[in-house]
Amino acid sequence: MTFLETNGLTKAFGGVRAVDEATVSFQEGRINALIGPNGSGKTTFFNCVTGMIRPDSGTVTYRGRDVTGHAPHRIARAGLGRSFQLCRVFPRMTVLDNVLAGVRSTGLAHRLRGAHNPDDIARARELLARVGIEHLERSEARDISYGQQKLLELAGVLMAEPDTIMLDEPAGGVNPALIGRIATLVRELNAEGRTFVIVEHNMELVMSLSDHVVVFDRGRPIASGAPADVQNDPRVLEAYLGV
Ligand code: ADP
Repeated sequence: MTFLETNGLTKAFGGVRAVDEATVSFQEGRINALIGPNGSGKTTFFNCVTGMIRPDSGTVTYRGRDVTGHAPHRIARAGLGRSFQLCRVFPRMTVLDNVLAGVRSTGLAHRLRGAHNPDDIARARELLARVGIEHLERSEARDISYGQQKLLELAGVLMAEPDTIMLDEPAGGVNPALIGRIATLVRELNAEGRTFVIVEHNMELVMSLSDHVVVFDRGRPIASGAPADVQNDPRVLEAYLGV
């Protein structure tokens, strides 16, 4: 059975084919990285896979099920969680309430603010401790650092108990100490059985963290394989250097 696969996925904005007949497969249990120059379609690809954008054509299959064009909450409920490039937290809500809002991504509206059961609250606290910001639970999200907001967003994603986590630039704008913490968390969560697909510009992090790399250029994959192999692939060097 395929795990996460796209077939001929295409999405155009006006005349620009942001994702252009992309056929990609990701294997279960891995830390997969998706890299490529700016504008190569990585975020649009993520958005199509997670239901934020409906593709023009092509399919997305998750665990053998066609989830193409499904609403984000349905995809989240199927086990696919995601974070955003520009971190998405509710700035005026407390850190704890932000994590609790994570269950919302699965469409469980009855669990919204004010109606949390004690199990959810206990779990939210556990996740905050896991990402190392439990001491901030009463702070408003806007008052914690950007890196801490990224950790908060990850805790919110975990609240929905995803088996696959897609992270869009987890290290972007984050200080080196917190990048180390994010990397450690990804490794631990992966060791517990979670699959990752990570878009990231920090090459050092990509190369040390991932076990499989897919390289995008102009909306489609041009190379894939182990980090060391991809790094030396002439097509990849060409895409990055534009030679
Ligand atoms: P990446 O994440 O690799 O930087 P993107 O998916 O953000 O790439 O963008 C791919 C291409 O699609 C770029 O040319 C970008 O300008 C274009 N694009 C992305 N989103 C939109 C949008 N909402 N409207 C118009 N063009 C877009």
